[in-house]
Amino acid sequence: MIVDVHTHVWECPCHIGETFVHDAKVTAGAGYKDIHVNLDSHWEAMQPVDRAIVLGFRARHVGVLVPNEYVAEYVGRHPEKLIGFCSVDPQDPDAVEQLDYAVQSLKLRGLKMGPIYQNVAPTDSRFRRLMKRAEELRIPLLIHQGTTFCANVSLEIANPIQLQPLALEFPKLITVIAHMGHPWIAETMVLIRKNRNMYADISALFYRPWQFYNALVTAMEYGVLDRLLMGSDYPFTTPQQTMDKLREVNRMTENTNLPRIPEKAIEDLIHRDTLGLLGLG
Ligand SMILES: [Zn+2]
Repeated sequence: MIVDVHTHVWECPCHIGETFVHDAKVTAGAGYKDIHVNLDSHWEAMQPVDRAIVLGFRARHVGVLVPNEYVAEYVGRHPEKLIGFCSVDPQDPDAVEQLDYAVQSLKLRGLKMGPIYQNVAPTDSRFRRLMKRAEELRIPLLIHQGTTFCANVSLEIANPIQLQPLALEFPKLITVIAHMGHPWIAETMVLIRKNRNMYADISALFYRPWQFYNALVTAMEYGVLDRLLMGSDYPFTTPQQTMDKLREVNRMTENTNLPRIPEKAIEDLIHRDTLGLLGLG
């Protein structure tokens, strides 16, 4: 089975603020493409995979407020394929109640967080109360713990090392670190090596081909290739593009003595039992 563990749906401008779109444009330059998501296009892009996780995203600090109801309504149209994750903004006083509602009433099956976007450090009590509740609810966490194109954010709360105390405090919480924690890939690899309930997704990395190749080599050398999950970060890339680029990653090594990622390891990554690992099987 092929699972895309990391996809987004949102409408611009109603769910995504102007600053977020502006920062995306400035950073991407000539490579910018519209990030508005048309649900029919999302559905079409997911045809090459068997299951796709659709993430909510609540981060008032960067002007992103995708309603959890919107995610629930969309995944409810295709329950055979789509799995919805909610998001809650830790700055909201009633964030824990929102999480309970999203899981118990909206039937969303995981939690997406992004401290850099939400401007709350993972070690902050407002953040930790949500981790505690997620562990109690036995839902997996997908966390954007890495850098971003947004300008008005704090990089010092974005390093994956910030997750280390949470891993000790909530050992049963199943966590996926998005984008292998870029650019702190080595930190992410040692984190997932020692914490058996932590994984990392490879989404949105291939368009930096040298970093992508090195990220996979780093994972191989630390012995954690089997802890990596396939994800696209749709609409920034599609699952098909991501799988194609994974299968091409060894082109970097042609006519060199650089190490190759075994083809079997790449196919295993693409066909990973992600739902089983996340307790969603
Ligand atoms: Zn994403």
